This record gives sequence, C-alpha cells and structure tokens, in this order.
Amino acid sequence: MTFEYAPAPESRAVVDIAPSYGLFIDGEFADAAGGKVFKTVSPANEEVLSEVAQASAEDVDRAVKAARKAFEKWSALPGAERAKYLFRIARLIQERSRELAVLESLDNGKPIRESRDSDLPLVAAHFFYYAGWADKLGHAGYGADPKPLGVAGQVIPWNFPLLMLAWKIAPALACGNTVVLKPAETTPLSALFFADICRQAGLPKGVVNILTGDGSTGAELVAHPDVNKVAFTGSTEVGKAIARTVAGTDKKLTLELGGKAANIVFDDAPIDQAVEGIVNGIFFNQGHVCCAGSRLLVQESVQDELLEALKRRMSTLRVGDPLDKNTDIGAINSAEQLARIKELADAGESEGAERWAPACELPDAGYWFAPTLFTGVTQAHRIAQEEIFGPVLSVLTFRTPEEAVAKANNTPYGLSAGVWTEKGSRILWMANKLRAGIVWSNTFNKFDPASPFGGYKESGFGREGGRHGLEAYLDV
Ligand code: NAD
Repeated sequence: MTFEYAPAPESRAVVDIAPSYGLFIDGEFADAAGGKVFKTVSPANEEVLSEVAQASAEDVDRAVKAARKAFEKWSALPGAERAKYLFRIARLIQERSRELAVLESLDNGKPIRESRDSDLPLVAAHFFYYAGWADKLGHAGYGADPKPLGVAGQVIPWNFPLLMLAWKIAPALACGNTVVLKPAETTPLSALFFADICRQAGLPKGVVNILTGDGSTGAELVAHPDVNKVAFTGSTEVGKAIARTVAGTDKKLTLELGGKAANIVFDDAPIDQAVEGIVNGIFFNQGHVCCAGSRLLVQESVQDELLEALKRRMSTLRVGDPLDKNTDIGAINSAEQLARIKELADAGESEGAERWAPACELPDAGYWFAPTLFTGVTQAHRIAQEEIFGPVLSVLTFRTPEEAVAKANNTPYGLSAGVWTEKGSRILWMANKLRAGIVWSNTFNKFDPASPFGGYKESGFGREGGRHGLEAYLDV
C-alpha cells in the first residue's frame, strides 16, 4: 500500500547554525585547548551542519574549575533566586522552541512533529517543574537545609539531546549544584544553543558549562577528582565502565541505561487503540528510545487479528524528510547506529524469525531503515534479548498472564513495560509482577516531569524526574 500526501516542509531558515562552535566554559565560548574539532552532520542527507570543538582533558579541568568556583555563590543563593533563573530559562526555551525544534530535527534526524510537539514542550516543562522545587527543598521532608552535592558531571546520549539535557541540568541547578555537561558527539548543537540561552537568561558564569566531544571527553569528565556527582544516560556497556571508574571514590552516581521493554496485549484490549500504542511504542523517534516497546507480547487468541491491523497501520507510516510535518519516521541518527540495526535485523532472519516491512521508498542519501516487524520470535533470539535501538519490533506470544510476566521479565533489562487490557485488577497485578521501573497501561511513552523515571536490573539505578529526581542532587 502506498500513501500519497503533499509535503509540508518546516522552514530550515528559522535556525541560524554557525559554521563552527567552541566549548562553553565559564560563560564564554572558547576553542578547545588542543585546537581539535569534529563535524556534526545531518543524518537525513549527510550534509555537514557545523564543526564543533573536541574537549581535551585540559578543557575538562578548566570547566570543572569554573563550575567549582561558581558553586560557592550559586549554592548560597536563596532557592527563590535560583528559581527565577530556571523560570527564565524555561520561558526562553518556549520562546525559541520553533528554532530549537528545527535544530534538533536537523542534527538528530527525528521528525519535526516529534521535536515540536514532544521534545520541546517536555524540555520547557522540566525547567518549569524544577524551578518550582528550588525554594521548597527545605520543606520537602529532606530536613531543614538539604545540601547540594557540588559539581555535577553529566554525560548524555543522542536520542533526545535537549530533553536529556533538561532531565540532567534542571534538577541539578534547582538544588544548588553547578554543572559540566557533555552532549553526544552526533548531536552537539542543541546543547550549544542551550548555552546561549543560559547567557540570555543572565545565568551566572560557570553555573552551566558545555563540553562537546566524544567518549574520551566523557571518560575524562566522570574521572575528574573534583566532580562530586556523575549522572549518565547511555548504553549499559558504557554505564558499567563508568561505574567501575567511580567505584572507590566518593562520587555519587546515577545511571539511566538501555532497555528491552515488553508491550503486552491481552485479548480483551481494544485492538485499534493497542495498535496505536504499539506503533507509538516502537516507531516513535525511529525506535531510538531506551524505553521503546521493542518486544510485542500478544495473547495467542488475538494474534492474527492484531498483526493484521498492525501491518495495515505500519503501511501508512511515512518515512522521510525530518523537516516534513507529515513525516512519521525520520532518519537513523548515524551510520554506526544504522549498521547495528541492520546487523541485529539480519541476525533475526538468520536465527529463523520471519521478517516483514511495508513497501516504502527510502531516500538515497542519509541513514534510513524501514519500520520492520519480526514474527516467530523465540526468547532465545538475539532480537528478543538485545536492545536494537531502531524501528524493529519483535513479536512473541503468550497464553496466560503468568506466562506474559515470565517472558516480559526474561531479559537483562528492566526499564519499562506496557499492559493493554480492560481489567483494572489485572493491570495492578501485572504492574507489581513486572520487573520494570515504569509500567504504562493502555498507553505508552507518556512522560511527565513530575513522574520518576529509571530502571531495574541492567537498565541502571537512580531516578530522574519528580521529587525522587531531587535526591540524586542533594545530601539529605
Ligand atoms: P553511549 O553509551 O555510546 O553514549 C552515551 C554518551 O556517553 C555519549 O555522550 C558518549 O560520548 C559518552 N561516552 C561514550 N563512552 C564513554 C566513556 N567511556 N565514558 C564516559 N562517557 C562515554 O550510548 P548512545 O549510543 O549514545 O545512546 C544509546 C543508549 O542510551 C541506548 O542503550 C539507550 O537505551 C540508552 N538510553 C537510556 C536512557 C534512559 O533513560 N535509561 C535514555 C536514553 C538513552
């Protein structure tokens, strides 16, 4: 089935990307000490967007020193004063949201509809939410005077560049910490625009520092002896390496890592609604979502009906230009990620699962992968165990709720799960049995700054969001 539509492109001209950017240290943009740079490209057409500085160990040290110096004054400000800055940042994000949404879609490849309607509103909401906490910490049950930790070293991934930044920076600043943040190497631009927003908001120098660079910059940052708190979101492999670095030091650590969520559909669920939830669960943001519903567990009695409806719906998904407002699935973030998705999808086929994808034309340049479904998947298959982080859904079946729980829990991960059923009692029973930090019911991928987010097992530890997110940045 092909789906005709008229392209509705968002204007690229709303964002002015400079040919090069420096590091943001102590309120100023500056070149990296070694003068090294790297390019960031648009994954939709491989166009070079800009050249950014690659921070060295010397730059990390400079940024941490700036943050340490700023900490003395920032932590001594009354909470209500810190709140004013955070509210100002939140309002500036709203004012500049169109520009930032286009920038995010260019650098990351995600559809503009998502960056405009999901990422940016949530980014602003996080700053508003934590701004509201800044003057209430003394009355929140943490004791009269909970102390900030000091300098936070924060490392984030590329899938939600600005939203992950907001999850990290907003609570840290609300509690009185200062920050050195490293964005991912394939999506450095929105963090640099955020640095500009900090200047616009009049945030005191050194409170927020942004170091662009690759994994080596991240490793230098988390190992720096004057960093008091490490917050990491990314792969389980790198999370474990960071845990080893931090072990034996007095640094506090939170890790938000990978996932392999089960989206579980019972036979009494409204099929059309479940199909929308499944599509949202795995194809939102090209499946580059740690909590993506990448395993569909469907009750055997409705398997045929559900899969037929799902395939029909998948055939209507539009893959293409991230800046087109009609696009449902944008570009894969990098050539490296595309190769990983292809490798796992090929493994699915060679291990005996059946592969299906709707007919869809993919652009010639850039990195693309069609929405893909695997049936006949067993628990031992790699595509049932490993995080693919792409638009690939593995379908397994079950007969009883107990079997659904056993299969859902049978991965090393424990970040999220979805349950589709009309029965309230079953939702509560499942939510208790599922080893997952987040359980959605009759919906998927719903986020709210007031709600704690985080994993069990190899999905990491600590919570971000909500009042639980404050505890990661306070000595209570
Ligand atoms: P990644 O672990 O490769 O990289 C994440 C960040 O860590 C990047 O900024 C990278 O430069 C940096 N890094 C790499 N090596 C490092 C090292 N040795 N020390 C310090 N920093 C280092 O992950 P990715 O490919 O960018 O992101 C995808 C992963 O992130 C997926 O596994 C996904 O599930 C996970 N993720 C988790 C959450 C969550 O909240 N649980 C949210 C988003 C993404």
